[in-house]
Amino acid sequence: MRRSQTYNDETDHAEWLARCTGCGIRRRNPMPDYCQLCGSPLEVELDYREDLHPERLFDGCITDLWKYEDLYPVSLRHSVDLGLGEGGTPLVRISKATQQIGVEEAWCKSEHLNPSGSFKDRSAAVGVAWARERGYPGVICASSGNAAGATATYAARAGLPAYVVISSRAPKSKLAVAVAHGARVFSVAGDFSRAFAAAREAAAEVGLANVTTTYVNCYAYEGNKSVAYELYEQMEVVPEWVVVPVGSGPLLYGVWKGFRELHRFGLIDRIPRLLAVQPEGCAPIARAFASGEEVKPWSRVDTVVSGIDDPLQGYERDGTLTLVAVRESGGAALAVPDAEILRAGRVLAHEEGMFVEPAAAASVAGAAAAKRSGYIDGSGAVVCLLTGHGLKYQGARDQVELETVRDEVELVGAIEKDLGKDA
Ligand SMILES: *Cc1c(COP(=O)(O)O)cnc(C)c1O
Ligand SMILES: [Zn+2]
Repeated sequence: MRRSQTYNDETDHAEWLARCTGCGIRRRNPMPDYCQLCGSPLEVELDYREDLHPERLFDGCITDLWKYEDLYPVSLRHSVDLGLGEGGTPLVRISKATQQIGVEEAWCKSEHLNPSGSFKDRSAAVGVAWARERGYPGVICASSGNAAGATATYAARAGLPAYVVISSRAPKSKLAVAVAHGARVFSVAGDFSRAFAAAREAAAEVGLANVTTTYVNCYAYEGNKSVAYELYEQMEVVPEWVVVPVGSGPLLYGVWKGFRELHRFGLIDRIPRLLAVQPEGCAPIARAFASGEEVKPWSRVDTVVSGIDDPLQGYERDGTLTLVAVRESGGAALAVPDAEILRAGRVLAHEEGMFVEPAAAASVAGAAAAKRSGYIDGSGAVVCLLTGHGLKYQGARDQVELETVRDEVELVGAIEKDLGKDA
């Protein structure tokens, strides 16, 4: 096994300690869940050996997220039989959308190009790898759509049964991926928090690995650190801001954790500020940031932006941890109206060639809002994470309006008129 080359043989790194982010208690390899004492999220503590040689690991060459497998809590090589090329996503400089934001330099990390169409592949790949190593008979997750697809994808590769619990609010179009990969999908009435509670309960009862992409599985969300590693390799300087659409926040936290590790390795001298973006109709973390109070659950979800519409009912500590990362990075958390999010999505699609779902476009809308309110000052690079593909989002299909032509003559006429109109 690879670990003997890199790690102290006494510390099997699938056995790395998990530390409670609330009460600080450390436990060796607990079941994925919140702290049994205080209910806070757990966090994996990496145990590096001197001979990890980060400067060799980070050689500027992007492949996929398994390039950094020595930094995840798994022991075996999973790239060979689990990997589909997840991670290693393009970083694209944007211009039109940059003008909209009002900054000099903005980039989009195309997370929507991951194998199942969202960044959730990062945590699902590592989470399923971990579950397989630990001998779990199957995986379960609650999802608003993208995590379901990602979990089903890697479960199929791993030969593990996948069970998905969705909120009755989730757009069914997003579930096509999970169904295609053979996952069993169950719908629970209510919002995401209800589906989450049901999946958590079932995982404990049946002994399945809960790979839900809240903070409930501290092994899985380690996969999100790879976004930071890749940005470090793809950019000449550390970006000023990384803008992240946030549900409960493990993506944002993972990015922060990844940059902190790079800092600890001595590879960077500062950590980017993190901007958490939520829709106005469900913004428990942005509300707490603005008021300076604790994160409290959101009572009435009212947004079309699925994927970041998590009211945190029953696990508001997830939001507290996300806010720690936001504050310690010197960042901010903002709420943006649906209309601005949808408009940013149109600009990305029409003028930048990137078709992403509204939750992803929220990063660009959020960056613009942060510029207007003075958090982002406009100098230094801003990176927006485009978290999910537009193809899966139902709203995109409902809005398709087609023009009918009777024949070639009408077709030519219509095109000429369109070109003339623009000339
Ligand atoms: C899940 C999801 C998010 C939010 O990620 P969290 O880590 O839960 O905060 C953002 N965008 C899309 C498209 C998602 O599917
Ligand atoms: Zn605790």
